[in-house]
Amino acid sequence: MISLGAARRHVLDRVPRRAPVPVPVGDALGLVLGEDVVATEQVPPFANTAMDGFALRATDAAGAPVELEILETIAAGHAPTAEVGPGQASRIFTGAPMPSGADAVVMVERTELVDERHVRVEIEVPVGNHVRPAGDDLDVGAVVLSAGEVLSAAHLGVLCSLGVGSVLAHPRLTVGVVSTGDELVEGGQPLAPGQIRDSNRRTLLALAAGAGCDVVDLGIAPDTEEAITAAIRRGVSTCDAVLTSGGVSMGDIDLVKVILDRIGDMRWMQIAIKPAKPFAFGLVDGVPVFGFPGNPVSSMVSFELLGRPALRQAMGHTSLDRPVVRAVADGAFDRRPDGKTHFARVVARHGADGRVHVDSAGGQGSHQLGAMAAANALAVLPDGDGVATGGEVDTLLLGDVPSESGLPIDPA
Ligand code: AMP
Ligand code: MG
Repeated sequence: MISLGAARRHVLDRVPRRAPVPVPVGDALGLVLGEDVVATEQVPPFANTAMDGFALRATDAAGAPVELEILETIAAGHAPTAEVGPGQASRIFTGAPMPSGADAVVMVERTELVDERHVRVEIEVPVGNHVRPAGDDLDVGAVVLSAGEVLSAAHLGVLCSLGVGSVLAHPRLTVGVVSTGDELVEGGQPLAPGQIRDSNRRTLLALAAGAGCDVVDLGIAPDTEEAITAAIRRGVSTCDAVLTSGGVSMGDIDLVKVILDRIGDMRWMQIAIKPAKPFAFGLVDGVPVFGFPGNPVSSMVSFELLGRPALRQAMGHTSLDRPVVRAVADGAFDRRPDGKTHFARVVARHGADGRVHVDSAGGQGSHQLGAMAAANALAVLPDGDGVATGGEVDTLLLGDVPSESGLPIDPA
């Protein structure tokens, strides 16, 4: 057996980061930025009002209440036509440009219309009151996003507010997924003796999509060299990476490792982890092929520990793994020394004590996808005798961790 660290190094060394390419902002969510973005415009582009009210000269409101002449009404999207002089004001709505001459806004709630042409301002206001200056958010020359940042919804908004239509970003990988096995069938038809339904393909397609990849369904390949070879060849000719499941164990009919050895540069590994001990990884025509084990939980854990980090690295991420927290074990995690690190499927939640707590999600067999589906985390049990109730355990968070309390707001 080799360590998980050695297996990961082998894979990560062979899946290099891909060079950035121009990507339209609309396709860039979740991609890693490959350049610094410098603002070439001011945001907001002009001084405007943050409130509905009246634009005036602050000095005119000194000694309020005062009565001012109304010049015009300025709505968002429209340019002022008149300069505000002494004793004058313009009605203005949020987002509208400040008229020249005015240096402050008094909110409408602090005014009263005297007649159609006159307004009474009831309070004094300082210069700049409710005025959002040009460049108040982003100023020309500022580095607003840096290479290496993962593009979020807010980042895309920043790019749009600057009029940037495309950015250099590390491209999404296209990942093909094939299931191998004579026993596998698709769909809901009655099963013949010995048949099972293929679950790995849908799961791995979903995991790769969740990792930010485009995915291609390469179907089911029965356990023949011809079928598996054809599926892998089709995959490497159209995809940036190929994920297979099944056929990497010790048996004679475990053909994926045989085929990867023949058509590619393959390493077959026995990794000191449970589940997901067997794993094959090869380059076929330079395209990485991940041979995950067939058991459904094993294929998912193998993807998490070896597949996802490599795909993320290729897409430019520097943070490759899920977050790890040191959690409190709400139940005992029993195990025996066997030279392996165990990954237990657990339900993690935030406790009232501010700690993350974990408990078993159910049956821990590598065929028991039910518990994996119920889990939102993997507790990492080092070689040894397990973790007692109340003990601490490093935990890989696969999804959101619910908390006991909701948003701290008054529900009324
Ligand atoms: P293998 O790794 O091919 O020896 O398969 C190990 C176990 O996983 C066997 O019980 C297979 O039937 C099962 N298995 C393999 N591929 C899949 C799949 N795509 N979906 C569900 N179970 C599978
Ligand atoms: Mg098989």
